[in-house]
Amino acid sequence: MESTITVTPRGEERVRSGHFWVYKADVSGGPADAGAVVRVAAPGGRFLARAFYSDRSQITLRILTRQDEPVDRRFWRARLEQAISFRDRLDIDATAFRLLHGEGDLVPSLVIDRYGDYLSLQALSQGSDRLLPEMTSLLAELLQPKGIIARNDPRVRLLEGLDQHVAVLDGVIPDTVSIREGRIEYDVDLRHGQKTGAFLDQRENRIAAAQYVRGRALDCFSYAGGFALQLAPHAAELTALDISEEATALLARNAARNALTNVHVRTTNVFDELRTLERMGERFDAVVLDPPAFAKSKAAIPKAISGYKEINLRALKLLNPGGFLITCSCSYHVSEAMFAEVIFDAALDARTDVSVVEKRMQSRDHPVVLGMPETYYLKCFILRKLA
Ligand code: SAH
Repeated sequence: MESTITVTPRGEERVRSGHFWVYKADVSGGPADAGAVVRVAAPGGRFLARAFYSDRSQITLRILTRQDEPVDRRFWRARLEQAISFRDRLDIDATAFRLLHGEGDLVPSLVIDRYGDYLSLQALSQGSDRLLPEMTSLLAELLQPKGIIARNDPRVRLLEGLDQHVAVLDGVIPDTVSIREGRIEYDVDLRHGQKTGAFLDQRENRIAAAQYVRGRALDCFSYAGGFALQLAPHAAELTALDISEEATALLARNAARNALTNVHVRTTNVFDELRTLERMGERFDAVVLDPPAFAKSKAAIPKAISGYKEINLRALKLLNPGGFLITCSCSYHVSEAMFAEVIFDAALDARTDVSVVEKRMQSRDHPVVLGMPETYYLKCFILRKLA
């Protein structure tokens, strides 16, 4: 029997406003089973939506459909088919990309990434966690992957009362999977790599950035070389910086594999290194800043802002006139407007004029949902230092 969860007038307003989440305080009825698909009713009892129910998270309801339709295997199959056919339309020049992006594909809290013949997924709520066996069998049916792995190790699962683990759900997963992005090939470790294996959300920004690169380039927070490897063929010389020894080792291997002999890798703290480079009088024609999320919560915003300001200021000082700064923030708590203001502040302090060449966001296979600011997390500005 399907449970009905009644929401308060404010909860109803939220569902009607196009948002996908209803918080605990806006739910008046319940409880239901952890992770169940429930009927969501307005205060008067009228049908509003079907949603995943969580008995632990502050996000009690995650909307699946606003139509009065059954949420069954056919429903999930249609959701997957829509997500897959959208990616087909994008004509992606890479073998690794996001196949399904949670709310952006109307399957809240589930992420499915494709790495060649393999799939890597993450269930981030009780509802999507419970859905995994069904999803695994549908994916096997639709795509015949050689293996499906669950990277259920993100910390947010703890907020749902779920454990953190990595498990092979179907087929086999080799230690490394070879992927191609544009003309670059590299190995991804699906068990231990960041996120589901790599940072796929920057794919289009890396390709876009490459066209502005020439001369000396600097890639800060390089990880396995997402930006560095795409930019190096356009640069005379490229230096990549990351604090993690594992990341720089991986990058060096990937550079060798692509016969990129102009890539220099340094294991170091970017905050210190940018100052050192400035002191030594080093100058660059392009600088990439792709740091981890500095603001993981609202409370962390002020500190994050000062971090972004610091690295953008240093980077602008290191740029030659006419050089390009590719600067990113993946903190959704720092809005695009806030980020633009920080960069402007940095430019004022660096006593330089800057123009905006491109204002970009996460790649199109990570859709942003209108009315749900939480889905717009990655900002990427391509700027030009005028003088
Ligand atoms: N640009 C990469 C993704 C970057 S992820 C890509 O396109 O694939 C962020 C990286 O920043 C991680 O690899 C992490 O090790 C590194 N990092 C975090 N803090 C750092 C610091 N203070 N100095 C240098 N690297 C840092």
